[in-house]
Amino acid sequence: MYQHKDIQGEPISLPVGKVVCIGRNYLDHIDEMKSEVPTEPLLFMKPKAALCDLTQPLVVPKERGECHNELEVAILLNKPLINADIDSVNDAIWGVGLALDLTLRDVQASLKAKGQPWERAKAFDLSCPVSGFIPVSRFTQLQNLSFSLHINNELRQQGNTSMMLHSIAALIAHMSSVFSLEAGDIILTGTPKGVGPLLSSDRLTVSLHDHFDITTTVAE
Ligand code: ZN
Repeated sequence: MYQHKDIQGEPISLPVGKVVCIGRNYLDHIDEMKSEVPTEPLLFMKPKAALCDLTQPLVVPKERGECHNELEVAILLNKPLINADIDSVNDAIWGVGLALDLTLRDVQASLKAKGQPWERAKAFDLSCPVSGFIPVSRFTQLQNLSFSLHINNELRQQGNTSMMLHSIAALIAHMSSVFSLEAGDIILTGTPKGVGPLLSSDRLTVSLHDHFDITTTVAE
């Protein structure tokens, strides 16, 4: 069973909630997908059964087309937020980690073509491997975090939170005007460019620069 942990692997005593995500928060990824910049944030959710530990081998669905990496900064909340302002959001962040928004890209393309919602492509069980979290007090500036993903020692994704269209606090404030956010919910803040297929036995190194590197593999 998934439980939130700190970066040392110690359990964090918060319930496991839902995951609220934004699509298209980095221009370079919007360009690579040939998508349009949305007029308001494109939001979707993953249920708690999507959550799993990033350090364990990643379970990628088979026979459902390509499953892509999307490395994203993840925020763990420790207070409820409803119609929150920026100060309340900043007061409700337990910590910062990294997550993969695993995406069945072929399934998503066919859903998009039919105008259907994305859950079949993004909300399946174990679709959100997440790292341990670092307390927010250890960060001086959330909008200047560098992160990267190497696959089999080759750079696949590289981002910095300064490149976000919607800043972390503004994004969470907006989300809280659409859905009630609760203690134990996780927010995914969008992916930079470099999405691509994950293959059996790939070795992934996920880095939040100056904070941690985690190496994991795709299960056989
Ligand atoms: Zn994503």
